[in-house]
Amino acid sequence: MVVLDGKQTSINIQDEIAIEVKQRIAKGSKKPHLAAILVGNNGASETYVGAKVKACQRVGFESSLFRFDENISEQELLAEVRKINNNDQIDGLIVQLPLPSHINEMKVTETILPSKDVDGFHPENIGKMALNLPTFLPATPAGILELISRYGIETSGKHCVVIGRSHIVGSPMSILMARNNNPGNCTVTLTHSRTTNLNEICKTADILIVALGKAEFVTKEMVKDGACIIDVGITRVKSDKTKSGWKLKGDVNYDDVASKCSFITPVPGGVGPMTIAMLLKNTLLASQK
Ligand code: NAD
Repeated sequence: MVVLDGKQTSINIQDEIAIEVKQRIAKGSKKPHLAAILVGNNGASETYVGAKVKACQRVGFESSLFRFDENISEQELLAEVRKINNNDQIDGLIVQLPLPSHINEMKVTETILPSKDVDGFHPENIGKMALNLPTFLPATPAGILELISRYGIETSGKHCVVIGRSHIVGSPMSILMARNNNPGNCTVTLTHSRTTNLNEICKTADILIVALGKAEFVTKEMVKDGACIIDVGITRVKSDKTKSGWKLKGDVNYDDVASKCSFITPVPGGVGPMTIAMLLKNTLLASQK
């Protein structure tokens, strides 16, 4: 069984990006610049945005964090997004989700200029992705593809089962694994909360990608011998063994499942760090446009 080391792979990608940035600056180009919008004081969102800003510094990008009070109106927030759209110094923009319930997330996403949408959530970019055209791929699914590719995992002709159909992970993942690409060319089954016989379906998966947000949901009874398991889930669970009083769990019961698999991602240190690396890759791409 091989543990897919997302942490080290992410560091390798960031090193590659840092070298490219240095070379570009030496040739007179400006630093790629990522802007992040953070609304309110959600602790998890603060952590995610903080990690993204830190990663920008590590690879030599410029970054700007725009913080707004949780009572900002939808109209005001859309105006701020348009301001960043019109700022030539900024190459990429992400809006940290979730947003407060009075703000329509889709409206905000649709307002981001597709050429600055480095999260790859804009309908135009999702459409291009589905058509296998060059575009920004959503960072988490793109990170999974990159991990699969760098570990040389064969996907062509395999049965890939995805659990979860969110717009940011499960749905795009299912499209990407089915595309005529490498990685890709899988026969894909997309499962969700209304799926019946989930255990039987999972047991037929050569590649099982789990993104439902329920700690340790997948157990060995659901896994085929030799399967490749990609665990996207991140849930904070109480723990009396850590200083913080909590620890992170994936959607897969790692200890139960690991001995049955060919490949598995740990949580933390698997998919999470890859997401950040792909966001940086998208920002580099945006700065070349
Ligand atoms: P979401 O809550 O938007 O969607 C969950 C999906 O799971 C839904 O489509 C739902 O139908 C499905 N689901 C729920 N219960 C189910 C069940 N019993 N059987 C089958 N399907 C079921 O989730 P999301 O935003 O895709 O996030 C999923 C998990 O991934 C969360 O833990 C989240 O924190 C994590 N996540 C991690 C990263 C990363 O970088 N590692 C990025 C995004 C999300």
